[in-house]
Amino acid sequence: MPLDEYRRKRDFSKTPEPDGSKTSRKRKAAEGLFFSVQKHLASHLHYDLRLEWNGVLLSWAIPKGPSINPADKRLAMQTEDHPYDYGTFEGVIPEGYGAGIVMLWDRGTWVPESPDVDAALRKGDLKFRLEGYKLKGSWALVRTRGYGSGSKPSWLLIKHRDDWGGEVNITEFAPLSVKTPDADFVDILAADRPDVWTSNAPAKTGDTGALFKRIIAQALKMKEEREAASGRREAEGQRATSAESRSAKTEGREARAKGSAKSRRSAKREGGGATKA
Ligand code: MN
Repeated sequence: MPLDEYRRKRDFSKTPEPDGSKTSRKRKAAEGLFFSVQKHLASHLHYDLRLEWNGVLLSWAIPKGPSINPADKRLAMQTEDHPYDYGTFEGVIPEGYGAGIVMLWDRGTWVPESPDVDAALRKGDLKFRLEGYKLKGSWALVRTRGYGSGSKPSWLLIKHRDDWGGEVNITEFAPLSVKTPDADFVDILAADRPDVWTSNAPAKTGDTGALFKRIIAQALKMKEEREAASGRREAEGQRATSAESRSAKTEGREARAKGSAKSRRSAKREGGGATKA
C-alpha cells in the first residue's frame, strides 16, 4: 500500500495530520493535478514539495527550499508518499514524527512535461510545469547518482530558464502562508496551539518540550528578521518615493509649462474646443 510508511510513522491519536483514510479523490480531468509546498519548521527548517500522482502526493523535503534561479540546484530528498488531503494541511504537530509547525507556503496545479510520468520517475528525470501563487513555469526533478546508496533517493530541483525564473530569492521575498493571510510560523502557532504559545513552555516535558522551546525561539527570530528586513525596504521605499515625487513635481512643473503653451495652441487650432489632455 502506498501510504503504509506514512501511517507507520505517525500516531493519529496524537497528531492533527490527516490519517489518509480519504486517499484517492475522484479527480475531474479539468481540475488539474494538485501541487503544494509546505514550509516546515521542525528540528530543521525545510520545505516539502508535494505532487499529486496516482491519488497520493509524491513528496520531497528540500532543506534550502525551492529557488526560481535556474543557476541553483536544490537538494530534494524523496520522502514517503502523503495522502492527498495532506496537501493543504497547515498547523502544529505537537509531538512525534515531524513535530513542529507546518505552513502552506504555496499551492496550485502541476502539468507533466515528461510524456510518461511513471517512466520519468523510474528514470529519475521528471519535467513539469507549476501553476502556483509563487512558483510558476517549467521545472525539473533529477535523481542524483547517489541513488541506491542511501536510505532515501536524493534528487535536485532545478528551475528551467523561462519568464518565471529570476534572481529574486523567492523564499525570502514571499515567506508567508498562502492559506492564512499574512501568517508566519508564530501566527500559525498562536492560532492553533495558544497553550504552547502563551506559556512559551509546552505542557509536556522532555524532548518535545525542549524541541518546542527551540522552535518557538526560531519562529520569533524569523519574524524579527523579516520585520527588520521589511522595515529596511520600507525606509528605502520612502526615500525612493520622496525622490520620485520631487522629480515628478519638477517634471510636472515643466510639463505644465510646456502643456499650457501646447494646449493654448491646440485650443486655437480646434477653435476653442476640448482642451483636456
Ligand atoms: Mn517535513
